[in-house]
Amino acid sequence: MTDFQRFSSYFYPDFWLKDKNNKLFSHYTNDEVYLFNIDSISIYYRHYKVQVDYYTDANLAVSLKVLEQDQSRLHAQSTLAYGEVAVNAMATIFKKIKFETHENIGSGPIHLPEEELHTNAAWIGFSEALLGEIGTEDVERGLVGLAHVLQHVAPLFVMCDPMDLHVIPQRKAVHSQEPTIFLYDRYPGGIGLSEQVYKEMETILTQAERMIVSCPCESGCPSCVGATDDGSKGLAITLLRIAQGGSTYVS
Ligand SMILES: [Zn+2]
Repeated sequence: MTDFQRFSSYFYPDFWLKDKNNKLFSHYTNDEVYLFNIDSISIYYRHYKVQVDYYTDANLAVSLKVLEQDQSRLHAQSTLAYGEVAVNAMATIFKKIKFETHENIGSGPIHLPEEELHTNAAWIGFSEALLGEIGTEDVERGLVGLAHVLQHVAPLFVMCDPMDLHVIPQRKAVHSQEPTIFLYDRYPGGIGLSEQVYKEMETILTQAERMIVSCPCESGCPSCVGATDDGSKGLAITLLRIAQGGSTYVS
């Protein structure tokens, strides 16, 4: 086993793939791949250099619930908050995503154990009334689009790798029943990333809006809100403005 080493850092199921010999591997950066092998108790890896034009990501089935809300700021139709959360995540399929264009160029199933994590999160809760005013489906599309943008923008402000901070949208958060976007530290106990996100949320939202508005696409693309031409762009902008203190009420 000379070319396998013990892998002792935190377990990230969402960038794992299987190669044709049924071994697990993962892209980590543009030119580095970690190859993993799992026996019943240990995880081993070895390190490769390859040239590829894509990275890997996974669809995670995530359930997240708030254990305690420590801080919050209220706006007309939104709440920014920070606190402790419990996350259960299970990788369902992996995706190959092309650098630069963020196109999905392949996918496949993965089978890994569920990950349980107690950590910290910042979140944006939107008034439940929006479901009636904008429509449930449109709120969902807006949440998914905005979460996609925040996944790219927020790590820049807290100087972390996008894999250290995970963003998930929920149509109905368990603690509030409100449409909510969570940004959580992907380390047990949290390492201060989401706390920093909470403090700088207004700046992050301003930058997210700038990123969406300046994207040359018409109604959404993989470089901004993820989806293509389904109107998510306008919906994400509406939610962004509400998160920044705006409102759908006519004054
Ligand atoms: Zn776009």
